[in-house]
Amino acid sequence: MASRKKYVGGNWKMNLNKAEAVALAKDLATKVDDAAPCEVAICPPFVYLDAISQALCEAGNKTIKLGAQDFWTAGNGAYTGEISLDMLKDVGVSVVLTGHSERRHVIGETDVLINEKNLKALEAGMEVIFCIGEKLEQREAGQTDAINAAQMSYGLAGVTAEQMKNVVVAYEPVWAIGTGKTATPEDAQKAHKAIREHLTSMFSKEVADGVRIQYGGSMKPSNAGELMGQADIDGGLIGGAALKADDFMGIINAAK
Ligand code: PGA
Repeated sequence: MASRKKYVGGNWKMNLNKAEAVALAKDLATKVDDAAPCEVAICPPFVYLDAISQALCEAGNKTIKLGAQDFWTAGNGAYTGEISLDMLKDVGVSVVLTGHSERRHVIGETDVLINEKNLKALEAGMEVIFCIGEKLEQREAGQTDAINAAQMSYGLAGVTAEQMKNVVVAYEPVWAIGTGKTATPEDAQKAHKAIREHLTSMFSKEVADGVRIQYGGSMKPSNAGELMGQADIDGGLIGGAALKADDFMGIINAAK
């Protein structure tokens, strides 16, 4: 089995004001350094990215990767309200989220758009945290693995084995996001193992063994160790618990 460095990402969603966001980033900058047991990324709202990028730079922190929660697939131009990959790069962003369930199910993004986003972001040299996961009724109907497989087949169509080095998959059961309900470590491991098997069938065992698969959905310091202790769980994508430095650090430190 390939040794995969664990990876914890913070998805701040549409939370915090500017002062709070910059203060949180500055606080993390003093706590996360190269001695951290895992890779770390934070994904603040667009409007705070530039200020946070500057704060990380001023703090001399090169460990925390800066991520964006979304972007538009075209280059700069007539796309009212949108943000391009060039703009994100310009302010120091190196990671993007795609396929998040809130964008799939609340905003209405399709598999086709998510695929286009994956391809464009990878072409632009970004690291992609590609989110997948089943809804409650799909889990209850025994469709978890089939839904994950379909979302991967659509979302990663056309991605090369080489580009997969820049892809992290985040398995986030929709019913566990922001609800306080977490998949049991055993259930999560089962889903992660099936995800890796599907990646093997799409690419190769070598590619699949190298891909980090994060778990997301109400991960917190008290359950992070057990979840990330599973063979195929390589980190976490954290929403609520990423908004407080102590909680986020508790999860980072559990990523042994
Ligand atoms: P949560 O969100 O940790 O608040 O459940 C996770 C996510 O949506 O990425």
